[in-house]
Amino acid sequence: MADRSTRQQIMDLLSQEEMNALEISQAVGVSEKEVPLNLEHIIRTLGKEGKRLLISPSICLGCGYSFKDRKRLQRPGRCPSCKGSHIKMATYRIGLK
Ligand SMILES: [Zn+2]
Repeated sequence: MADRSTRQQIMDLLSQEEMNALEISQAVGVSEKEVPLNLEHIIRTLGKEGKRLLISPSICLGCGYSFKDRKRLQRPGRCPSCKGSHIKMATYRIGLK
């Protein structure tokens, strides 16, 4: 389920604390795969309110590679640098522009 109230709940949470997709999915009861879609909606909503989604990028735990230029919000599967799959999830928080 990804309705308006789910997104509102996510926005409330991220206004208060920094969370990753797994934590968000558990907090609002959607699957982890649905979180990126909701975040994309939220990014558009926030733009109208003069706020934005601050993203701390995923980081490879094997080599320290940062996914800071990544455009997609889905969790990366492998590190492009060392091909490792131990990747710290990106975290999100809502802040002012
Ligand atoms: Zn790596």
